[in-house]
Amino acid sequence: MAKRIGLYWFTNDLRIQNNAALAKANEECDELLVVYLLDPKDLTANRYGFVSLGKNRLAFLAESLTDLARSLKQLGQHLHVFQQSPVATIAQLITIYNIDAVYRSESSGYYENQYWHMLKQQYSQLEFIEVATHTIFTSQQLPYSLSEIPSVYTEFRKKLEPIIPAYTPIKIEQLKKAPSVSSRLLKPDFPDALNDQLNNKIQLSQSSKIAIGGETQATQHLYQYFSSNHVSQYKISKNAINDINGSTKLSPWLANGCISVHQILQEVDKYEDFHGKSESTTAIKFELLWREYFQWLAKTAGVKLFTLAGMRGKKPLTPYYAQRLRSWTHGTTPFPIVNACVKQLNQTGYISNTGRKILASAMVNDLNLDWRFGAAYFEHQLLDYDVASNWCNWQNMAGVGVDPRTKLKLDLKEQQQLFDPSGDYVKYWKGETSVTTLASLDTVDLADWPLD
Ligand SMILES: Cc1cc2nc3c(=O)[nH]c(=O)nc-3n(C[C@H](O)[C@H](O)[C@H](O)COP(=O)(O)OP(=O)(O)OC[C@H]3O[C@@H](n4cnc5c(N)ncnc54)[C@H](O)[C@@H]3O)c2cc1C
Repeated sequence: MAKRIGLYWFTNDLRIQNNAALAKANEECDELLVVYLLDPKDLTANRYGFVSLGKNRLAFLAESLTDLARSLKQLGQHLHVFQQSPVATIAQLITIYNIDAVYRSESSGYYENQYWHMLKQQYSQLEFIEVATHTIFTSQQLPYSLSEIPSVYTEFRKKLEPIIPAYTPIKIEQLKKAPSVSSRLLKPDFPDALNDQLNNKIQLSQSSKIAIGGETQATQHLYQYFSSNHVSQYKISKNAINDINGSTKLSPWLANGCISVHQILQEVDKYEDFHGKSESTTAIKFELLWREYFQWLAKTAGVKLFTLAGMRGKKPLTPYYAQRLRSWTHGTTPFPIVNACVKQLNQTGYISNTGRKILASAMVNDLNLDWRFGAAYFEHQLLDYDVASNWCNWQNMAGVGVDPRTKLKLDLKEQQQLFDPSGDYVKYWKGETSVTTLASLDTVDLADWPLD
């Protein structure tokens, strides 16, 4: 019988263990070619003027891929990394290697799914197999069809909480080995953009970096966190603005798939078996279900995830103030707490959930800017950038998400008193400013900035 040759396309699942998509490909194919594609468009400025993969994100990705390549090597496989258009590259590989089936993890991203559909159409004779590895539920396990996902989170959570599937370990001991990809097709294994970031790693690590990319670090952090007493404090500490142990800090690894949401849930369950169920363990699950909710909402939203009017279809009136946007991204607004948050984000690639809400509320309500510039800036900076979590949270903050009640207008002075009463946070991140009024920022005002 002819050999079945598979192509495994790593995307949001940069791990070996508990990776159902990789396990399926490994089981079904006689030979596997394993690739990761760094999309050149993510390295150039987008319509908002920001490069999607900012330097902090790129460094985290480079570390994650290095770790993945190391683990694959131990299992007898080789990771090929391309800095080329995903569709064209996959198409080339299909032809060169007579690929029979292409595998990847399911995605909630509109553009990621467009790529997949283009390839499916182009190679209708091949098998294209996607497996859910980024979510708790598969679409078959969900008690709703995609068009029926509730517009209110609580409704979604109440139905799903009792039916979270039990953890099933997925271990891969060895991987099938395909011939090495010919060098005439490819650039060296780690493209320059990633190598540069890896060389910068030492410098970046010395700054206040909260996480190093890769499955190895992710697993270590997971076990450390759940064997600490920080878990028991989670419910009261999770909203702290500057407490490294206040929340799990698992998001960068989860977003890049260095760890699965099932692995986290399993640790919560083990913790509960030992210490009993608590408000804190329930709260961690509650947040993971928010994430789940957004994954499915984003999938149904399609391109509406990125439109000004959002999933709700209601366009806010937002003039464009170039200088206001600049001051928001540089931390030179009249609001010290906003400045401190954005400076922390710029330097570390991370801010707390409270910090994100403060930044989003300031952008939408105080600076009166188009929310999508904020979402695009977070996409550029956040180590834990996840298309669904980011754009859905922003839609909620801007009041254009499916549930309009989520629009949040925060009083910035009150927030500062509440989360930084001593002023230490603002002082540490140099949030104080001599700019006292918005008027002093405004140089340009083009009504209803036209980006649809
Ligand atoms: C405007 C805005 C943009 C955001 N963008 C992102 C993003 O791009 N990627 C991202 O992972 N989270 C995003 N969040 C959600 C949240 O701020 C982060 O998940 C959280 O701060 C990560 O830190 P943690 O891992 O310590 O979280 P924990 O408090 O420890 O929560 C555990 C996990 O639950 C999930 N989670 C928690 N809160 C949320 C939430 N509101 N929405 C979705 N998932 C959640 C995350 O996966 C997180 O790792 C955003 C929130 C806002 C308000």
